[in-house]
Amino acid sequence: MSRLVLLGPPGAGKGTQAKLLSARLDVPAISTGDIFRANVAQGTELGVKVKEYMDAGRYVPDAVTNAMVRDRLDQPDAAGGFILDGYPRTTDQVHELDEMLAAAGAKLDRVLEITADADELVRRLSRRAQLEGRSDDTEDVIRTRQQVYLEQTAPLVALYSERGLLRSVDGLGEVAEVTARLLDALASDAG
Ligand code: ADP
Repeated sequence: MSRLVLLGPPGAGKGTQAKLLSARLDVPAISTGDIFRANVAQGTELGVKVKEYMDAGRYVPDAVTNAMVRDRLDQPDAAGGFILDGYPRTTDQVHELDEMLAAAGAKLDRVLEITADADELVRRLSRRAQLEGRSDDTEDVIRTRQQVYLEQTAPLVALYSERGLLRSVDGLGEVAEVTARLLDALASDAG
């Protein structure tokens, strides 16, 4: 039960919960956003390539993202499981991930969707903007990211639901409460 994907709109708390679940389940949390941001900060070739997309709130092209995730999942620490935070985000990425896993003789165990209403998401992202100063947490860019999520990523909820992999969890409430709900959602489907 340790190959997991976290889905949810910007601000739902995927990154926070991915780190907590990683500690509880003893598998690495892999955040494509964090990896991209680290590359931008270090000025790597990849960072230079992705910066303009991120600053605009648009998705990095699938070919770039897929290659990056492929490399990351090839690392030995991901062999026994992982929590993907922020990937897949497009249907192309879903199929790419299917192939990566099939090639390794593995498959996804569960997709956990974290939900939250739109007002709460805007509140959280505006607060984070003040605390962390992320360059894509300005009001305009937040709106673009929400739109892009609705268009490109929300359809993945139905796709994974049809595969029987999806569990949706309410992202409102204390951080620890949400973690408990996610662990429940993982434990409740042994059958
Ligand atoms: P959030 O979920 O709050 O939007 P992330 O840190 O997950 O934040 O992502 C930040 C940005 O990184 C995205 O807006 C996008 O530009 C880029 N990114 C992250 N993951 C992907 C992905 N799977 N495909 C394309 N772009 C991505």
